[in-house]
Amino acid sequence: MKRRHCVFCGEPAINKNREHILPKWLLELTGAPSRVVTMAFDPGTGKPIKFAWSALVMPACEACNAEYSALEAAVKPILLALLDRRPITSRQYLLLLDWLDKVRVCLWLNQLILQKAMETIDPHLHVGNRIGTKDRLLYLYTLDGQAMGLNAFGIESLIFQHQPSCFALRVNNIILFNASSDYAFSDGCGFWHPERIDRQIDGEFAGRVVFQGHAMTRKITHPIVDYPLLKAAVRIIQPIAQRGEDGEFFGPLRQNESYHIRHMSDPSRGAGILFRQFDDKVLPIHNFDAPIEFEGVDAVNNGNAGDIAAQVYRFQVYLLHKGVELVGSEPAIAHANSMSNILTTTNEMRAVLTERGQRSNQGRDFVTLAFRDAMAAAKRPAEPKG
Ligand SMILES: [Zn+2]
Repeated sequence: MKRRHCVFCGEPAINKNREHILPKWLLELTGAPSRVVTMAFDPGTGKPIKFAWSALVMPACEACNAEYSALEAAVKPILLALLDRRPITSRQYLLLLDWLDKVRVCLWLNQLILQKAMETIDPHLHVGNRIGTKDRLLYLYTLDGQAMGLNAFGIESLIFQHQPSCFALRVNNIILFNASSDYAFSDGCGFWHPERIDRQIDGEFAGRVVFQGHAMTRKITHPIVDYPLLKAAVRIIQPIAQRGEDGEFFGPLRQNESYHIRHMSDPSRGAGILFRQFDDKVLPIHNFDAPIEFEGVDAVNNGNAGDIAAQVYRFQVYLLHKGVELVGSEPAIAHANSMSNILTTTNEMRAVLTERGQRSNQGRDFVTLAFRDAMAAAKRPAEPKG
């Protein structure tokens, strides 16, 4: 995926159009469309890179753009309903999850362009191969009050740059906390999943991910997610089976195993149904058209939206490590581990500073500067021992 390649199909854009990462109706719904926001920091100075929401565009083919605009149109009434606290159906949540995949990946590609990091990151990823292809989750938080606003939380972190696994989108008085990662939640849904995910870090196959071993309980675990996420008005999780290089599903789905088939929303895509997390149980949602009512949860007060943003940074760390084993030469593993420590530490710093509402000093982002200094120290040759 290069700058001029289509954000949807990854090919050179044909009859190039500009795709707005966030649709115009959403910008108008949440404030002045031309307002300026900060979503990234200059890696050298820590100063914010500012731009208008309305200027957030990516290259796209005309045909791809038209195809995805149907998704935008379908999502509008869904978001309007949620803003009014009206329940939507499982079928609608599945569309909303597709749209969140799209927004998350577009914001990620945009960050890579802003940070000039395109060369170092997986060039094959684009929206078309990242919608509905990995386990995903949505926790819907409600906010007190009627303040308008649109914010994307967590997208400036180094872990997000590494893998667009988790972010949160505030739209006026709701926050959509969204995560997606390889087999992150299949285990808890009773679905097939690898026992371990090997990530090759050097040599001929650097970057390759290999699923090792297999496990399946056919039982739902309560809670599904092995992480203490804050309670939300709606908490839904969807397992999604993946295909190997031969085009066949991994695991028993290729034999139409019955537990999987009973819990599928779209077997041809490997897409599970939604599982709803409650305080005391998990319920699989078999009826796609029944309204999913909000749970009685005290709304997060606006000042505490920071707690949800902090949760994004910490959940990114959780997903970065979950089930993953690094494979490679000893020095490469040592280097990857020290990088991983730096990524984890900077995310934890972001979480703590976000909770305290102290992110910057004289307009410079604390964490960006701390990361710059940590990297400089890591590159410095060790003092000779003597
Ligand atoms: Zn295209």
